[in-house]
Amino acid sequence: MGALSVDLSGQTAVITGSTSGIGAALAEGLARNGANIVLNGLGDADEIESLRAKIAADHGVTCLYHPANMLKPDEIADLIAYAHRETGRLDILVNNAGIQHVSPIEDFPLEKWDAIIAINLTSAFHATRAAIPVMKAQGRGRIVNIASAHALRASPFKSAYVAAKHGVYGLTKTVALEVAEHNITANIINPGYVKTPLVENQIADTAKARGISEDEVVRDVMLAAQPTKKFVTYNELIGALLYLVSDDGANVNGNAITVDGGWTAK
Ligand code: NAD
Repeated sequence: MGALSVDLSGQTAVITGSTSGIGAALAEGLARNGANIVLNGLGDADEIESLRAKIAADHGVTCLYHPANMLKPDEIADLIAYAHRETGRLDILVNNAGIQHVSPIEDFPLEKWDAIIAINLTSAFHATRAAIPVMKAQGRGRIVNIASAHALRASPFKSAYVAAKHGVYGLTKTVALEVAEHNITANIINPGYVKTPLVENQIADTAKARGISEDEVVRDVMLAAQPTKKFVTYNELIGALLYLVSDDGANVNGNAITVDGGWTAK
């Protein structure tokens, strides 16, 4: 368990893509600090229900689930409306859902480009667009977009992902300027490599694209970029999120907390 704590009792947090990996960890971290949670994401219905029930039971908070597909604007708007309707509030929006595809650009499947831009970038626009009126009415809000070190740096074979993550940073800065006077902030957290299912899947794809072994991908491609040579942990990301959503984070706006072991210092 991380050392940081913030009192989020009575607040409602929506975390997109929280049925797995970073999103699930961030939801648990916010619940641990008292926030009511609305989970979202794809996956096996029984596993999602177990996660939902566990978060509610472990932390004594309300934990709901909404199945909005981040490819569908009307479902994203319904996710935000559902959170507000069921809990009476919307304090924290974490746009986290994301997918990856690794391929040289000349072979990059068109449908993969479209899906990555839609899920990793456009869904954050739709969720933010729906959330802002509620946050303005409440007089406070926190939007945190989970971008990536790839919001600041490029890597070969990740054209859609890098484009989407750079786009998320631009969206975040724009929203921050628009809502600053309403006690609402919008920021990004940029993880380096975290060993989630998304990264596990990338190891095989990157090995194929580069013609090297999976061990070489981990050592020479992934952690080669990360000077600490260690994967970023969930608690390190939860700590950054807690700071941004706290009252002490009120003047951090349109900015990035980059948790990448020094990768983007280069
Ligand atoms: P993950 O695959 O473990 O989780 C992705 C989540 O998004 C899942 O809950 C999945 O169901 C959801 N999702 C995917 N498509 C969806 C759709 N169409 N509609 C609704 N939900 C959908 O991945 P992760 O590694 O935890 O990644 C989470 C975020 O963190 C992503 O935005 C990713 O780009 C970012 N990130 C990850 C790393 C890393 O090293 N893992 C590094 C930097 C940034």
